[in-house]
Amino acid sequence: MKFYVRTYGCQMNVADSNEMGRHFQARGLVQTENPDEASIFLVNTCTVRQHAEDRAMSEIGRLKRWKMKKPGRKVVVTGCAAERTKEYLEGRFPFLDLVVGAKSIESFSDMATGLLERRETDEDLDYAVPAIDEKISAFVTIMRGCNYSCTYCIVPYVRGREIYHSPEQILGEARDRVSEGAREITLLGQTVNSYRHGEYRFADLLQAVAGVDGLERIRFISPHPFYITDRVIETMATVPEVCESLHLPVQSGSNTMLKTMMRNYTREHYVALVEKMRRAMPGMTLSTDIIVGFPGETEEDFQQTLSLIEELQFDWGFIFKYSTREGTPAAKLESFPEELIEERHQRCLELLDRIASEKRSKLVGSVHEVLIEEGNVGRTRTNHRVYVQGDVKQGDSISVVITNAQRATLEGEIHNGNVTFENFRQEDRRSRSTR
Ligand code: SAM
Ligand code: SF4
Repeated sequence: MKFYVRTYGCQMNVADSNEMGRHFQARGLVQTENPDEASIFLVNTCTVRQHAEDRAMSEIGRLKRWKMKKPGRKVVVTGCAAERTKEYLEGRFPFLDLVVGAKSIESFSDMATGLLERRETDEDLDYAVPAIDEKISAFVTIMRGCNYSCTYCIVPYVRGREIYHSPEQILGEARDRVSEGAREITLLGQTVNSYRHGEYRFADLLQAVAGVDGLERIRFISPHPFYITDRVIETMATVPEVCESLHLPVQSGSNTMLKTMMRNYTREHYVALVEKMRRAMPGMTLSTDIIVGFPGETEEDFQQTLSLIEELQFDWGFIFKYSTREGTPAAKLESFPEELIEERHQRCLELLDRIASEKRSKLVGSVHEVLIEEGNVGRTRTNHRVYVQGDVKQGDSISVVITNAQRATLEGEIHNGNVTFENFRQEDRRSRSTR
């Protein structure tokens, strides 16, 4: 019996899909990339912006025909939109077999058992050996929910308040992923660095996960600027496994907007953090999330966002058009016409893309350690995707010289020299951390 998973939204959702997939696999189901072969179709939804929710809804609508094509087929809808609109979903799509909101993902195991026991026929019970997740780069969820109340954001409503997994559970999952072939682990949480468990803080967790045998790289997403403490920076800079790349959402360059968004930091605080991190990790890459067209954003506020992008020279980023989410405080504010939001979106994208492309072009000729993830594509420690020419295979960790940086995915060739910019830094950090 096979299952197919369609995931919308962020890495957290990808991790949840993987986790739910593992529950199916533990019961003998096999994941497929082809919905025609599947008996279970799971749609893991996102509701952060209206667009993501609309796409999931139309997909769910189409699944009525998919389900009717074979007896015994089941449709499962999970995630943030399922949490927000459970009753609506069950009313509008009565053919759904299971609707699981994002707050209930931790109890998915029992629900999966219930779902499988409710089978109408035995026709597809040819259980296979549980599949193994062979991904080189795996996610481990360390916390769920969010204690912030950013005024535009629906996440705290659909995912609830923060709960933290124990260090033992996290280390156990990291070891499991490594034994299944992972060499890189990304720790996940909505404000991942606010992690705490007893006396244990995020920096302690980074250090502990770094000790997992066979693990080469650690990343984490999404950190909140408020919790980027000196200890976190020091740990990132001295623990060799922690990659020198950070996605640190800023949302706006205007203090007025940051205040109305209730982000709990100022532009100056954010800039100072970046300067500190760049001093501790020269050569690190920095990316961000930005929202344009938040209610009340004046041209002057918007200019402040553009000037922040210029000032900090982000390596890449995501620019989001503000989307009203019912129930959030910002939904009560008057929103801008779509054209104005679209226009700011374009201007912001152009600037970010120009800077990103200038920064990329400087990489030509530099040498990086690339961990091959799939086919000939891998990533540097600084999180640049690279297509490597030549004979390489999944899991190879190789020295690569960048030959072309015109596109977001760089191109490179295997490098046989010794000392390189990146591995020089790593050697240097290794010797510092063992002092
Ligand atoms: N917890 C993370 C943080 O605070 O940085 C981000 C989580 S959210 C799923 C990912 C991004 O979506 C946010 O950083 C923000 O830029 C964007 N976002 C959230 N709500 C939005 C909204 N209502 N409209 C547009 N973008 C939004
Ligand atoms: Fe949403 Fe803010 Fe929490 Fe991030 S920190 S999930 S943007 S409320």
